[in-house]
Amino acid sequence: MRKIIIAIDGHSSAGKSTMARDLAREIGYIYIDTGAMYRAVTLYAIRHGLFHDGGRIDEDGLRAALTGISVSFRHDEATGLSYTCLNGENVEKDIRSMEVASLVSHIAALSFVRRDMVARQQEMGRAKGVVMDGRDIGTMVFPEAELKVFVTAKAEIRAGRRLAEMRAGGLEASFESVLENVKTRDHIDSTRPEGPLRKAPGALILDTSDMTVEEQKAWLIGQYTKAAAGANNQPAP
Ligand code: C5P
Repeated sequence: MRKIIIAIDGHSSAGKSTMARDLAREIGYIYIDTGAMYRAVTLYAIRHGLFHDGGRIDEDGLRAALTGISVSFRHDEATGLSYTCLNGENVEKDIRSMEVASLVSHIAALSFVRRDMVARQQEMGRAKGVVMDGRDIGTMVFPEAELKVFVTAKAEIRAGRRLAEMRAGGLEASFESVLENVKTRDHIDSTRPEGPLRKAPGALILDTSDMTVEEQKAWLIGQYTKAAAGANNQPAP
């Protein structure tokens, strides 16, 4: 079957990463978590004092530092999972903290950060055979992707899933703070001028509110099979 690009966008914690990662593993594609890239840049900014009091970002400092910020993904043979590295350091746990979650959408709204990240993502997907998840993959990064999906779910359900994920990773937070963060990020992500979160033309909408992970996975594999065979996309259930 021909190699294609699969673009999975949607609201925070709607299930995109799990679906995308599972599909990539199943079909032997590379999975790229673009949210982790914006989170890693945010962690760098926190660590280097680029957030001033009141949350203002030192944009000049970040612009100057950006080319020296390397974000890569490595595979842990023991767990079978991939993890995010910032300048070679495993930061997978740190980038999932509430502190990073509360600041990342502000970093991701900066045009110079977006342009840099989009260019890196386009390079990573140049040879196709990638499943990429984010907010602007089907609209900005790969508008010509053969399969585009827009994933959503009720905010309360998304917050519950995110909290469970955080707890599984040893991070603690209240349900209310996670819900608030999910809603705030959706708002910032959808209203920014550059690369706003939108359903791309031709994207299939998937509401995962009442779906199990297995159901989501089965649906996505079905869509991949059709798209890779060159068939037209079918509407989501
Ligand atoms: O996917 P995840 O929730 O980890 O993404 C974290 C944040 O990174 C999002 O809320 C959004 O602000 C930003 N992001 C983005 N564009 C992407 C992926 C993530 O702006 N392609």
